Amino acid sequence: MSRLDDNVKFLYDDKGKSLGVWMSPELWNSLDAHIAPLLHKLYPECFEDAVVPEPVDDLNMLKEYWDFPYPPDGKVHCEHCGASTEDWESDDPRVFRLKAANLGGLVTFECLQCSSRIMKRHFKDKVTFECKPPVDRRSR
Ligand SMILES: [Zn+2]
Repeated sequence: MSRLDDNVKFLYDDKGKSLGVWMSPELWNSLDAHIAPLLHKLYPECFEDAVVPEPVDDLNMLKEYWDFPYPPDGKVHCEHCGASTEDWESDDPRVFRLKAANLGGLVTFECLQCSSRIMKRHFKDKVTFECKPPVDRRSR
């Protein structure tokens, strides 16, 4: 992993007021197993069966600060079950659900057909997809 200050940034607005802390997807992924149980304890209501709203604001923030040399698109595909779309937001019924988006260009979806997690990563010269098939949580 690269340097700490590449992976954690303290964010401030233009008046110097703290907005919070940004964490890179790589750091988040490596801490997830430690953080997830704490989040479950702090926000149990968010982890019940109730459907958590999609973090559309986060995606809009990414689009607002978009600095990749190509326009954003809505393409998503699932390597696990073969589901695919040109524009996940306009599917009816929906095939993919937005799970997370961050300013680093990582957008995460859930495949509604097979529950795989799909990570769409935006780089300067390419877009990559990584599919994590669903895990049986009882075995963790
Ligand atoms: Zn799938």
